[in-house]
Amino acid sequence: MKKNKNLLEIPNINSKDAEFKELIYDVNDSLFNKDNYSKKKFEHLCVCSGGTTSSCAKNGFTTLDLRKNYSKIHLDKESNLVTIGGGVKMGDLINHLQKHNRSFPIGLSKLPGAGYILTGGVSPLSRAYGLAIDNIESIKGFLGNGTFIFLKKNQISPEKQLIWEAIKGAAPFFSIVTEIELKTIQSNPIKVVEGFVNLDQLSEIIKLSEEFPENISLQWIYAKKIYIYIFAELKNSLEDKKTEECLILLEQFPHLEKNFYENFNEINFFQQELDLYELNTNNHSEVISLLGEDLENDIPIFMKCLNKIMDNKPNNSCYIASQQLGCKTKKLLHGSSFFVHRNSTWKPWIYASWKKNDLQEKKVVMDWMYDSWSKLRRFYPNVHLAQLHNHLNSHREELTLAFGNRIEELKTLKNIFDPQSILPPL
Ligand SMILES: Cc1cc2nc3c(=O)[nH]c(=O)nc-3n(C[C@H](O)[C@H](O)[C@H](O)COP(=O)(O)OP(=O)(O)OC[C@H]3O[C@@H](n4cnc5c(N)ncnc54)[C@H](O)[C@@H]3O)c2cc1C
Repeated sequence: MKKNKNLLEIPNINSKDAEFKELIYDVNDSLFNKDNYSKKKFEHLCVCSGGTTSSCAKNGFTTLDLRKNYSKIHLDKESNLVTIGGGVKMGDLINHLQKHNRSFPIGLSKLPGAGYILTGGVSPLSRAYGLAIDNIESIKGFLGNGTFIFLKKNQISPEKQLIWEAIKGAAPFFSIVTEIELKTIQSNPIKVVEGFVNLDQLSEIIKLSEEFPENISLQWIYAKKIYIYIFAELKNSLEDKKTEECLILLEQFPHLEKNFYENFNEINFFQQELDLYELNTNNHSEVISLLGEDLENDIPIFMKCLNKIMDNKPNNSCYIASQQLGCKTKKLLHGSSFFVHRNSTWKPWIYASWKKNDLQEKKVVMDWMYDSWSKLRRFYPNVHLAQLHNHLNSHREELTLAFGNRIEELKTLKNIFDPQSILPPL
């Protein structure tokens, strides 16, 4: 996406390099006019919010870029509900909220846009506040057939109930969301215990983490070396005492650094200065995210499996990482959604990256990604569809593993509300 000088920078390099057909900034009736689409098989509209995935712009396809015209953020100070446009970046959201001492459970990066929320949204704060979708109060947007929709929690008519549930986790397949109203949370200080560890130490820390209370979560990355972040939200003196009792168990790893942050905004995960992996702007990449339950007694075999995967790693840009969900994300406090694998504790992801014009390396790297996925399946059998892969052969299988027994309902919604398959195919 680089033909027009006025364009906003797009973070995903695959999408940045794409020679798109046309760029649209507004969602209006003409968007759904048949003439906007060629009759070419599989052609659909790409939607761009944060622009962090390989599916927001593609060679020869039209992109609807929500970042220019759907970027407003408004916090209602009475209700503490925030309304954001469908093109808002998560970093801009929490920066705005911080001015009012509020926050939101965003993920490990400030770059993703509304796609983060609509595909589930796993945050280091999710164990205490649920997934991002659990915090949606209302949405506005258009279905793939051009119908305007406005849905508000607790005011959903029975005939709209299925659409509401599917918006939470599967919205990109049948809708374009232009506005989202979200619950916000009090902004609290955060303690982070972080540092490099070896495989044995990671194994011990995973074991400890499966007993963490809801305000503490573990995230780790295994790239050139292993780096961990234990993230603890500090809320009040009573809970802080429990947190300290829990964190004291980490004293057996005295080299880990303890850092205190005034608020979530101040934290930058996987910083470049740590030189965890080679960040090459000439590389293209794909990411697949998995979901699984507590590892419990499987931790030793999992560590062996991880070691094997990393032994076969094709280059220094590829890595495996994982974040911890659980506690509140396991509860259905906020009603049913299309994030069906509520029993999950771990969301690992495989990051596969290659020199962009090197097709040979691409093949080796993609083979490694699929091979690693097959090795990890026994621990993490499900998929978190945070990245849409309709350009890859694994798309159908990923859909089945992401939506489980709700896939047929999603297909029905797609047939009714996006009959021309303008949005990503199922
Ligand atoms: C550095 C980094 C860190 C991440 N960390 C986390 C994390 O901690 N937890 C987590 O859960 N995920 C995480 N992700 C994954 C990320 O949240 C998803 O890939 C998300 O889909 C990206 O959204 P986007 O808006 O930035 O992407 P885009 O590429 O702009 O959009 C991706 C797709 O989502 C759909 N979409 C986006 N906005 C809309 C809309 N308004 N209406 C309809 N469809 C829309 C479109 O189909 C679009 O093609 C991370 C990603 C990156 C790059």
